[in-house]
Amino acid sequence: MADRAERQAGATIHAGGVWQEAVSGATREILDPADARPFAVVAEGDEKDAELAVAAARRAFDAGEWPRTPVAARAALLRKVADLLVRDREELGLLESRDAGKTLEEGRVDIDCVADAFRYFADLVAAEAPGRVVDAGSADIHSVVVHEPVGVCALITPWNYPLLQASWKIAPALAAGNTFVIKPSEITPLTTIALIDLLAEAGLPAGAANLVTGPGHSVGARLAEHPDVDLVSFTGGLVSGVKVAQAAAPSVKKVALELGGKNPNVVFADACATDEGFDTAVDQALNAAFIHSGQVCSAGGRLIVEESVRDRFVAELARRAQRIRLGRGTEQGVECGPLVSEQQRAKVEAYVASALAEGAVLRSGGKRPEPSAERPATGYFYEPTVLDHCHREMKVVREEVFGPVLTVETFRTEDEAVFLANDTEYGLAGAVWTTDAGRARRVAGRLRHGTVWINDFHPYLPQAEWGGFGKSGVGRELGPTGLAEYRETKHVYQNLAPRPVRWFAG
Ligand code: NAD
Repeated sequence: MADRAERQAGATIHAGGVWQEAVSGATREILDPADARPFAVVAEGDEKDAELAVAAARRAFDAGEWPRTPVAARAALLRKVADLLVRDREELGLLESRDAGKTLEEGRVDIDCVADAFRYFADLVAAEAPGRVVDAGSADIHSVVVHEPVGVCALITPWNYPLLQASWKIAPALAAGNTFVIKPSEITPLTTIALIDLLAEAGLPAGAANLVTGPGHSVGARLAEHPDVDLVSFTGGLVSGVKVAQAAAPSVKKVALELGGKNPNVVFADACATDEGFDTAVDQALNAAFIHSGQVCSAGGRLIVEESVRDRFVAELARRAQRIRLGRGTEQGVECGPLVSEQQRAKVEAYVASALAEGAVLRSGGKRPEPSAERPATGYFYEPTVLDHCHREMKVVREEVFGPVLTVETFRTEDEAVFLANDTEYGLAGAVWTTDAGRARRVAGRLRHGTVWINDFHPYLPQAEWGGFGKSGVGRELGPTGLAEYRETKHVYQNLAPRPVRWFAG
């Protein structure tokens, strides 16, 4: 097995327990988004590498140890992985910060959350009953429903939370006894590569965990369509998600899709009635929209605020947005890193230009910041941007921006607030801010989103399902449903006293 230094020189494909270069020999430089300089080299795999990895995962599922490993031992291995993540927290947090352009603290928190996911799924499988006995209405029949691993899983992940999104798939897939091939985003693969090492160190048998670095259109597409893959779980954008579902359809494999969001943050005037309430709602609106420079699937980029408090709310938001300290994520005191790529920044700039052309009023940001010692001119930085006087027909309000852009719309009645909050093709997450308990529950009940926060924004729990309504996806991650995605259900019906049925005269 190559060591970490060799892999960074291009042997980052893992098939059957062996690190190797791409069959084609192609490589890709991984850039630091804070200065656009390469800091690692990985293999640029293609369909041939996907083929090798799927074959290894198939062998490991059909004849290998892992699917036959007792549940208690599987859970113990997942807990060991969590311990190794804690041991390597600094190293992995730093790697995530450099790769995805997030602050070091965000990188560290991500690693904590990854460890939590491994622990959660370990505990969940360890506590389960082995099957559900069904009353078949006869003492001669023993009928039981059991859950079995689905088989070879193809796991495709995005660049914004590289290791966290990977863990939401790898931990339940392994807990359920599957083998897998993961394809991380081609621009942020480094922590996922490191996790494969930790799985091996924890004792996972060779072939159970496989990884192919490379682009979506070749590696990802081949994994999604591959007849030897039993399930594809994809997290990414809507356009790619539709392609994955189409590629998967002919082989009728299980498909789970975690796609984008256009997430409303609804603020009622009563939430701002006291200074403390106002401060909290503004602070959380900033957090909702700008954490990780808005590159969060559940980013609260759509503020829907009661008209009577709009001016005061937006003025304070803009004042605080201007003070957010932008810079390289590893610099002390930096609050927001760069966008992940030049392409992503260009997309954000185009959305802001379209909003201004459609009549939005710029209250803060709307441009690249001045370069500084902690913000190299070559980095992909963009200022936190507040766009006032937006309306529901605007492109910037309808589409996912995935950057530090907050649009402001207003409402006068509860019905109007609910209408606007649900007026999206997505349905991932949303929040309501109010001190009226009845209104909070009413509005939460009417929102068509997979997660609804009342007087909060962004927290999630590994024990609670995550996923979206509408075009935000199909299926759920985390919680018991997040484990069930990786299983087949089997009914075993045993006749304890078999006799002829004489349906045919014979
Ligand atoms: P993306 O769709 O461009 O890429 C995601 C992954 O899919 C990458 O690994 C990519 O290489 C691969 N891919 C691309 N085309 C493919 C194809 N045709 N077949 C198979 N794989 C393909 O998304 P991104 O830009 O990396 O990530 C941002 C998106 O991810 C946003 O829309 C965001 O909302 C979404 N996201 C959703 C969640 C969630 O939980 N719902 C979480 C994180 C990110």
